[in-house]
Amino acid sequence: MKPGGRPSSKPVTPRHANIPSRPKASKARAAPGFSRPGKQRIEKPSGLFVRAINTMVRGLSMFDKDQRLVVCNNVYRELYDLPDAVTEPGTAFADIVAYVVSNETGHTAKEARAIREQRINDHLAALAEGESFSEVRHLKNGRIVLVTSQPLLDGGWIGIHEDITDERQAEKRIEWLACHDTLTELYNRAYFHQQLRGALSSRSEIAVLWVDLDGFNSVNDTFGQPVGDALLKSVARRLIRVVRKADILARLGGDEFALIRFGAATHEQLERLAQRLLATIGTEHRLLGRKVHITGCLSIAHAPDHGRTPDTLMKHADLALHYAKTSGRGSYAFYDPERDYESGRVKRLDADLKLALKKKQFELHYQPIVDFHAQRVSGFEALIRWRHPERGMISPADFIPFAEASGWIVEIGNWALMRACKDAAAWPADTKVAVNLSSVQFEKGDLYGAVVGALSASGLPAERLELEITESVLLRDHPKTHDLLHRIRALGIKILLDDFGTAYGALSYLRSFPFDKLKIDRSFVRDFGTPNERDCTAIVQSIAELAKRLHMTTIAEGVETREQLAMVTNAGCEEVQGFYFSKPVRVGEIAATITRVRQIFSRALEKSAWR
Ligand code: C2E
Ligand code: MG
Ligand code: MG
Repeated sequence: MKPGGRPSSKPVTPRHANIPSRPKASKARAAPGFSRPGKQRIEKPSGLFVRAINTMVRGLSMFDKDQRLVVCNNVYRELYDLPDAVTEPGTAFADIVAYVVSNETGHTAKEARAIREQRINDHLAALAEGESFSEVRHLKNGRIVLVTSQPLLDGGWIGIHEDITDERQAEKRIEWLACHDTLTELYNRAYFHQQLRGALSSRSEIAVLWVDLDGFNSVNDTFGQPVGDALLKSVARRLIRVVRKADILARLGGDEFALIRFGAATHEQLERLAQRLLATIGTEHRLLGRKVHITGCLSIAHAPDHGRTPDTLMKHADLALHYAKTSGRGSYAFYDPERDYESGRVKRLDADLKLALKKKQFELHYQPIVDFHAQRVSGFEALIRWRHPERGMISPADFIPFAEASGWIVEIGNWALMRACKDAAAWPADTKVAVNLSSVQFEKGDLYGAVVGALSASGLPAERLELEITESVLLRDHPKTHDLLHRIRALGIKILLDDFGTAYGALSYLRSFPFDKLKIDRSFVRDFGTPNERDCTAIVQSIAELAKRLHMTTIAEGVETREQLAMVTNAGCEEVQGFYFSKPVRVGEIAATITRVRQIFSRALEKSAWR
């Protein structure tokens, strides 16, 4: 980083420079190693003294009361590149100042004369105060020097010159890092938001333009990350050339850039700016010997019309960006309060899901199902999670509906089946695995083939696999569904009806297919302990009883407390699932979870806690 063009000689707070402070009440005395300099003649310092000051790591200069140089060391000469002519004892302070000022940055040759005079006047005035004082000088050779002057009793002074270039550069680097993106050297997200907050709180008129590159990941995949990084840098360099100096251009992360354009602007002005930004991105990039083509989509939201707080403005810009994305590569869109953005968001999620499958961002967590009478874990339910690179862990409730609407659930479901069977094949032989199926899997894709494939690839016996379906599978009444369910069951796989009791007409479904298990929806369990308690208990009891008569077993899900456990087991549920025993765990924690559940039983029995 280059030293900034700051005024080169600003007084700074006095700084300790290892200089003995001025003795207050003693008589004037010569500095050690010198005879007191006469008025006209400067006596040469002794050789020993010169050798001593030349061992110092800092520059040293000493002047007498007539502002003539008495002595200086080599570091002083080197710091300012001073020629012999101005380091001879007796040289006037004014001549040295003239030389140093001509070597400083921040002022023109024309200004130098005035600065010289000012410098000498300031120096003498500060000297007259009798205290040490400091100033920083920025030299043309790139060095930054801290000068601390200490007045002497005889009216002269000693200057200590410290090269603080590295220190200053490190400080600047830290300051710089706090608000910049290291890859592109644009501002970072934190600084962008800070500026946005500031602008909105001062009620300035601003516009936010948000850019997202199209298909950046495929550039990374095709050409490798170094080319991807080079592309981001190249885009940043081009964008910065289009924006005004006063505006804030930032990389928000990944392949997203955003601009705060300050001041009032017409729709047409913003539109032209958007077009120029997209055009510069869209021009061919030559990177590491390759030609790369990329486009970007852009959204525009402006304050105060589209939002008065950073959150609202950015949310609206985000909606408009998603909308632009759905309009095709290289599109831009203004936020429009009248527009329905919902459908656009679905499309974006669709693209995200596709990528998630490709990038293997899904994982299965497992929640134990506890056989209450056998006092052990009888199996685990596989519950999918999406580890999103930016949004973190996303729960199935937030993406399964979209995956179903877009059809991706078929691939996601097949992956979950395969993964769960492979994981379960490594568990104890008496431990089953339950996998959730979506109704869409019964209508699209080859579910039977996926099930058989998962069993044969994993070697898991069919008896150890359970498939959980919800009433919605039967509700959709697809012609293939019943046949498929029977064929799967004929393999020896158990079919379980999940979330039982939540759909209208639930009982009629029990007649339509021979389910092996019913899983009572957790809403009935949750209400235990509320004013609805009596109804819940009655429902759970009835379901368990009914299931028994139809030769089905029952699981109660969502059991969180000892009281709920007592209620469901007294009602006749054979199996229990819920946070009381364990939350869903990662595959690496299966063995530990089996042990933990066993310990919960032995402790409870010791204390007769469940009686
Ligand atoms: P579900 O099949 O009914 O799964 C039970 C849900 O209840 C899980 O939520 C589980 O974490 C949660 N749960 C379990 N015990 C307790 C408890 O004691 N208290 C509370 N409050 N919650 C408890 P999760 O993992 O968020 O899954 C939600 C739903 O997403 C599942 O409901 C299932 O319908 C669906 N799902 C999960 N994985 C898959 C999958 O691989 N494929 C399909 N199609 N659906 C899945
Ligand atoms: Mg389930
Ligand atoms: Mg359930």
